[in-house]
Amino acid sequence: MKIAIFGAGQLAMMMIQADKNSEHDYTVIDPSTEPPASFYANHIQSEYNNPDIINDICTNHDLVTIDFENVDVSAMKEIEKHVPVHPNSKALEICQDRVKEKELFKSLQIKTAINFKIDSMHDIKKCIDLSKGYILKSRRFGYDGKNQYRIKPNTKVETDLVLSPCILEEVVSFKAEVSLICVRTINGYIFFYPLVENSHQDGILNMSVYPSNYAHLQESAELIGSKLLEKMRYVGVLVVEFFVNEYDELIANEMAPRVHNSGHWTIEGSSLSQFEAHIAAITGTIDDIKLKLKPSFMFNIISKHLSDKKINELKANLDIYFHDYHKSQRTNRKLGHLTCTADNKASLEIDMRKFNNII
Ligand code: ADP
Ligand code: MG
Repeated sequence: MKIAIFGAGQLAMMMIQADKNSEHDYTVIDPSTEPPASFYANHIQSEYNNPDIINDICTNHDLVTIDFENVDVSAMKEIEKHVPVHPNSKALEICQDRVKEKELFKSLQIKTAINFKIDSMHDIKKCIDLSKGYILKSRRFGYDGKNQYRIKPNTKVETDLVLSPCILEEVVSFKAEVSLICVRTINGYIFFYPLVENSHQDGILNMSVYPSNYAHLQESAELIGSKLLEKMRYVGVLVVEFFVNEYDELIANEMAPRVHNSGHWTIEGSSLSQFEAHIAAITGTIDDIKLKLKPSFMFNIISKHLSDKKINELKANLDIYFHDYHKSQRTNRKLGHLTCTADNKASLEIDMRKFNNII
């Protein structure tokens, strides 16, 4: 099939790399110069809503997907009239907007942080209880903790904040963050990966670990995942991020309508990676699947590349795999990741200690 991917970052790159037998032809659309996936596919350097490009996709491609959720929804709606878009434009519209996302959670009785829609400073003052902590997040275009502002209890709210439409969330007191990779195929078949536990540094994912300490919450997480997939008639990989609160309850934080950083471990840790799963789901080449999994942790390489000396030391001591995104160094930029696998949880814990000593 001829597949067009909007966005040509590392997620598109790994989707294409996952197609080991080159079963499909890929075109990536991205305004930047030499994005990661451009080294593996035909790259159209263009904005996402360029009418000529949209026309070309409608006539010359069989299927459209994304590696970046903030594509132009009206362009996707136009394409959908001619070619299937997975995930569909309605799902993208919801996942692009934190308020719509929270409304969907609420309508499906999925627990979230207490939240308020904010359009002005006046709204904030009306909602806020000074004894509590809050996070003000822009409704759109937030990622890696960007476009978020923390309001501590008993502090004065800055009155000179320039507000784009926002959501104000109460700070959830959580003991862990976990995520669920959900898959629904074009035939409506659903499956899930096990929950992974995620840790962040400066708002950016630092590490994901499988198995998590919250395997007992898998069933509740899957129930939530199924409701979301069915409601949105979603096709492909959808990721749901949760907080685990002090009562061991799952509190839904946000969704990503695509493959996700917390699923990168599945390249080596699973018999079917999230990237293979996504392509198989949207092309309809999968129906029944039994995943074989290996305990794994994934670590993001951010801002600075690792030295050859460090890489060699890690390779000498651990069962470790590196992924390079072909990017130059920049503060807080994801440059690559590595995954370490082990035969069992106890060995993985030993390996994590070794890893932390080396890194
Ligand atoms: P992003 O799109 O940037 O990942 P998130 O909503 O996931 O946005 O926020 C980034 C991180 O900030 C979360 O992983 C979590 O650590 C923290 N965070 C976000 N919202 C809350 C909240 N309501 N309570 C506590 N921590 C939060
Ligand atoms: Mg997040």
